[in-house]
Amino acid sequence: MKRSLFRPGGPVNIRDMGADQYRATINLPSDTDGRIARECPDASCSPGYFKVKPGTGITGKQVSAFCPYCRHEADPDDFATKEQQRYARELVVREAHRGVDNMMRDALGLGASGRRKLNGGLISMEISLKSAPLPYVRQPFEDEVRRDVVCPSCALDHTVFGLATWCGDCGADIFLTHVATELAVVRSMVGDIDRRREVLGRRVAAKDLENCLEDAVSIFEAAMKAITRRHIAASGVTPDEVEAKLKKVGNAFQNVDRAGEMLRDILGISDPPEVPWAELAASFAKRHPITHNLGVVDRKYLERAHSAEREGCEVRMTVAEVCKTLDHVLAAVSAVHGLLFAANPWEGAASSPLPR
Ligand SMILES: [Zn+2]
Ligand SMILES: [Zn+2]
Repeated sequence: MKRSLFRPGGPVNIRDMGADQYRATINLPSDTDGRIARECPDASCSPGYFKVKPGTGITGKQVSAFCPYCRHEADPDDFATKEQQRYARELVVREAHRGVDNMMRDALGLGASGRRKLNGGLISMEISLKSAPLPYVRQPFEDEVRRDVVCPSCALDHTVFGLATWCGDCGADIFLTHVATELAVVRSMVGDIDRRREVLGRRVAAKDLENCLEDAVSIFEAAMKAITRRHIAASGVTPDEVEAKLKKVGNAFQNVDRAGEMLRDILGISDPPEVPWAELAASFAKRHPITHNLGVVDRKYLERAHSAEREGCEVRMTVAEVCKTLDHVLAAVSAVHGLLFAANPWEGAASSPLPR
């Protein structure tokens, strides 16, 4: 009887497909948060790396999966990371070692002891086989990814770098969920400021508030840049041309007036959607002295602030104002996103990954 290199079952669930073809099923280990790493099959996609929580999202037979960054669609198995591919290869090689060892034992008629005595007339001999230890298989080493988001359409719980756009399971545009999730993180930091004031003092609480305002500006800028990148990419230009155009944007989205110019000149929105732009501008303006002068205001700022105070405007930053700013950021990003992509939700999908 012909002996097979692989025996059915075992640690990699070997199945004999006939004609010397075998299929192994590898159970990928998850990280400490119960997530499994995935990698976009498109080598040009950046960052192309994310994680999913098994048991969430599409739980039945899944025909295809999507890259959250470029919406590349492929068989879910094609999203294995390089580490997972190495791990699978090493597991199969280890099974092959085991198979060769078993074949040798069977061929030599060795039992579990690995020894056999041959007694035949004048000659008596003993055969023994000492197997080499099986090769060690290192667990996949995966990167740390820290932005968890749950798809509102299919409930896939996944983790990405930066502000991704697409759901890894159903492929829906969940950009606004990413933005809202990021803003919610800042909101929970704002919500902790009173406790931190009591525990760590007023200066720490003031610094927390300043940092939260800066985060609000950063999220607005990152979201508007991502929208701009996607819009430019949808016009069919090359990735280099996309980056060249984005260079012109620079840090314009840190300032609401200049953001308005970008909406008009680059995104073609001459009539911006109804959003509390003026309130957003006032809050963003308070970030400038915070960022550039360690929160120490200069004479020019004070003059402006005093005249504003005389006119009854609030010049100090408050918890309520930062919370409102977070609301306005989401409203502004949602409005612009809706204006550009609502009609064609997949526009710019394949060519708008995040910058390297
Ligand atoms: Zn991709
Ligand atoms: Zn989904």
